[in-house]
Amino acid sequence: MTEEGLAQGLIDLLSPGQVMSGEAVERAYDCDAYTVHRAHPQAVVFPKNTAEVQKIVRWCIENGVPYTPRGAGTGLSGGSMPAHGGVIVALTRMREILQVDIENRTMLAQAGCANLALSKAVEDHCLHFAPDPSSQTVCTLGGNINENSGGPHTLKFGVTADHVLAVTLVDCEGEVRLVGGEVGGMPGLDLLGFVIGSEGTLGIVTEALVRLTPNPINIRTMLAAFANSDQATNTVSQIIASGIIPAAMEFMDATILQAVEAAFHTGLPTDAGALLLIECDGDNAESEITSAEEIARAQKAVQIRIAEDADDRAKLWTARKKSIGAIGRISVSMVTHDGVIPRSKLPEVLDFVYKTAEQYGLRVANIFHAGDGNLHPIFLFDDRNPEEVDAVVAAGEAVIRKCLAEGGSVTGEHGIGVEKIDLLAEMFSPEDLRLQDDLRRAFNGGNLCNPGKVLPSQKSCVEVRVRRRAAH
Ligand SMILES: Cc1cc2nc3c(=O)[nH]c(=O)nc-3n(C[C@H](O)[C@H](O)[C@H](O)COP(=O)(O)OP(=O)(O)OC[C@H]3O[C@@H](n4cnc5c(N)ncnc54)[C@H](O)[C@@H]3O)c2cc1C
Repeated sequence: MTEEGLAQGLIDLLSPGQVMSGEAVERAYDCDAYTVHRAHPQAVVFPKNTAEVQKIVRWCIENGVPYTPRGAGTGLSGGSMPAHGGVIVALTRMREILQVDIENRTMLAQAGCANLALSKAVEDHCLHFAPDPSSQTVCTLGGNINENSGGPHTLKFGVTADHVLAVTLVDCEGEVRLVGGEVGGMPGLDLLGFVIGSEGTLGIVTEALVRLTPNPINIRTMLAAFANSDQATNTVSQIIASGIIPAAMEFMDATILQAVEAAFHTGLPTDAGALLLIECDGDNAESEITSAEEIARAQKAVQIRIAEDADDRAKLWTARKKSIGAIGRISVSMVTHDGVIPRSKLPEVLDFVYKTAEQYGLRVANIFHAGDGNLHPIFLFDDRNPEEVDAVVAAGEAVIRKCLAEGGSVTGEHGIGVEKIDLLAEMFSPEDLRLQDDLRRAFNGGNLCNPGKVLPSQKSCVEVRVRRRAAH
């Protein structure tokens, strides 16, 4: 089908204002926040409700057109990049909060709602939606569900899967299904668990019923600066070993600190080698933060600052949450890698990250949810230079292999997408992967919904070509 024919078919189905196509659109939607792999969609369509999503999916099936669900496109592994072209189904106009049930502490919302908008809608009731990815001002509920996203506060409160009771799914045959229910732990096979984290390969989530969490009380937030990253990561291990589970424990290295300070002037100590942002809340917040401070001092923290009030705390968090944006000032392109390791291995693996960057001639910045053992090395490069692109890919793979060798996983929270398809095959046996593929086929037998993602059997030579093209 020609691009014009495809766009016209979708306009006939919906309205002209809901369909975009053409060169500018192809370029604007050819990747997510993982910019190494790119592929053009033929059209982008913006449904307003479940019925419209169903119409689009049925039309794609009838016409044999691949389609890719997309939220805000902040994914970091290529999940909403249209690997096989076709239609991008962008959920960002589906941002209505449909129902708030204060008594049962639940909220029903459309999948395109921004994460932070959910919490803002119930702030007067002192409630919030707990998963808080650092991209929360824009990333969507549908994206969070499909990546099973975490965030700084998931150390204590759990990841997205812990906060979703049910989803409305337009499945890959164009049927509307309710998966899950109003109470947790539905009997039968856990289909909700299967859909959460499936990276848009099992259908399109149009609405979700989520749990609301009471806002924390007695929050104490501490910034601890260290001369080097080993002292910071040892502090992380010892705080957890002491029995404290902080609400959040975030690591930032010197490159991040300098970029953030240059951009936002928040008063961070730019001469520090590493910094931890530690937050405790609840009845024991005061004693926990005191213990965390003692541990940090024993690890030779060079500066400790405890937020005096809510404004001061907000300032410290602004520094953390805007840090990746600040990197944009010091590099043309960046790739944020994502692995997870046992927390005790953080010093060793972080050291490996710095050595790997040196080996490949790359600059690297590190910022991550240290309490979860997550690792997010951000390699800085210029994606117009093919050699640098290859170096970034190779360095990232070396780091993830190290995570595997240390008993970790190929992803902590950013998913597989196209980025880590090969590495997934190093983590699971062929038999395990075949079982996963059989399950995927039970939902997505026609392979039109987000093809080319997650499982190695999905891999095609298309994506390899895409990577090369991106380097021009
Ligand atoms: C600056 C920055 C900070 C980040 N911080 C974090 C962090 O702290 N923690 C974390 O976990 N991640 C983080 N991320 C990654 C990213 O923001 C999350 O994965 C987020 O949940 C993606 O949401 P999105 O709406 O942008 O989804 P997209 O990127 O558009 O899509 C992500 C995946 O979900 C699928 N999808 C999206 N919507 C739907 C739907 N309605 N139905 C079916 N499939 C769908 C897509 O096909 C794709 O596979 C960060 C990213 C950036 C750029």
